[in-house]
Amino acid sequence: MPLPPRQMAADPTSGTIHFMREPPITITCDCGAVGSVPYGERWQCEQCGKAWDTSQIPLAEYSALLAGVRRYRLLVVGPPAVLAAILIPLAVLVGLQYAFLLFVLVMAHGLLIVPQIRRRTTAASSARSTSWKLSPE
Ligand SMILES: [Zn+2]
Repeated sequence: MPLPPRQMAADPTSGTIHFMREPPITITCDCGAVGSVPYGERWQCEQCGKAWDTSQIPLAEYSALLAGVRRYRLLVVGPPAVLAAILIPLAVLVGLQYAFLLFVLVMAHGLLIVPQIRRRTTAASSARSTSWKLSPE
């Protein structure tokens, strides 16, 4: 008898920790069906019933991939956030020239630095499409 979906969705006390915003792993079954699960979880193909276990992926490889994604996000989002945190109070307390400075620096970051980061992290984005060969159970 198949379990109703609510029971399938696991109880919150099961102790599985989900890290925030980890990219799910896309699994393409031998039969062509596509599924997506978080790292470490099993996925069973609805069409042919094969079970795929993402914990077969070496943790080191998966963490390296995640680190690349995180570093990219940090480099893109971090500097404008830091600049804003410093310059907005100055603009309020000292003068509007700091707001102008913030505007110029954030624009410069977006127009000059981000494209460079993007170019340099083409390696990281190809890592994002890394595929592993899993064996069905
Ligand atoms: Zn299948």
